[in-house]
Amino acid sequence: MRAARWYGAGDIRVEELPDPTPGPGQVKIQVKWCGICGTDLSEYQHGPMLVPAKRPHPGTGKQAPVTLGHEFSGDIVELGEGVTNLGIGERVTVWPLLPCFKCYWCLRGRYNECLTLGTIGLAADGAFANYVIAPSYGVHRLPEEVSYEAGTFAEPLAVVVRACKRGGISLGDTVAITGAGPIGLLALQAARGAGAGRIYVVEPQARRRELALKLGATAAFDPTQVDAGKEIARLTDNIRANVVMECSGVPAAIQSTLALSGRCAKIVMVGISSTPVEFPFDRLLFHEKEITTVQGYVDEYPAALSLLASGEVVVEPLISARIRLEDIVAGGFEALAHHPEDHIKILVSPL
Ligand SMILES: [Zn+2]
Ligand SMILES: [Zn+2]
Repeated sequence: MRAARWYGAGDIRVEELPDPTPGPGQVKIQVKWCGICGTDLSEYQHGPMLVPAKRPHPGTGKQAPVTLGHEFSGDIVELGEGVTNLGIGERVTVWPLLPCFKCYWCLRGRYNECLTLGTIGLAADGAFANYVIAPSYGVHRLPEEVSYEAGTFAEPLAVVVRACKRGGISLGDTVAITGAGPIGLLALQAARGAGAGRIYVVEPQARRRELALKLGATAAFDPTQVDAGKEIARLTDNIRANVVMECSGVPAAIQSTLALSGRCAKIVMVGISSTPVEFPFDRLLFHEKEITTVQGYVDEYPAALSLLASGEVVVEPLISARIRLEDIVAGGFEALAHHPEDHIKILVSPL
């Protein structure tokens, strides 16, 4: 089979590999589509971040080169020994976490915090390939209303569902979202589904702001042109946002969440910044604001698939390109690295 393998930063090669065989408790999936995630792009540009490059991964034993790709859908084509709850030919997507199920955090059900957590497509071979192997416990059937393309969004949407839950959005709440990339645009739709009243999006790129408005944002602000905090204050009679979801990972945007949010607000950090960000502690304290974070997902896949099936969340407008596996470097990673303004989500097909 063909597979796109990470060898190092700036070095992803599409190569011929033997077809994989499912072990006990695993299934073999023929990949239809796999989305390129911001995590994959970071591995390409600045890796290794999560790919085990220097030593084998403590959970999976895998070491680079590794096939990337964790946002995927496909058909089950082979069942490993002992798999009785799934059938050949079923249309599926996969919760790609590989927790140990034994550590303190796993025993509390916090699989996303497993001490030796690995992820398919980072610490085990992923789905930028014709076939991928997945443990049966991670496999979710696609509802019949959900296409293979839409099924690849279950993964990022699960992150966003968790963000909505941790933000505790209540009916009629005003929500502000910073960053209208794939995560921000999914967060906007999920927040609307969670009952948000007004939803304000803050995003410097004009095309992304337009898309946000099309997908239901009440208003979208360019933070390089206006003071979004003041605008939201003006539009909400000085109440500002009850919940802020930070989906950019940009330090200035992270700091801006304080001005976008009102008293007693919840601020959910979804975007990742490795740069320390200063926060005026007293302004949090005096207004009993809470900052919370999201690390992946635990049990959010069924909710994500349900939102896709009902049409509450649409993903078609987020797909900015569909490319072949052979073109993943030039048409995928290089395009995202050098022309981010042209893209939201790029889907890759090995077929
Ligand atoms: Zn992802
Ligand atoms: Zn564990």
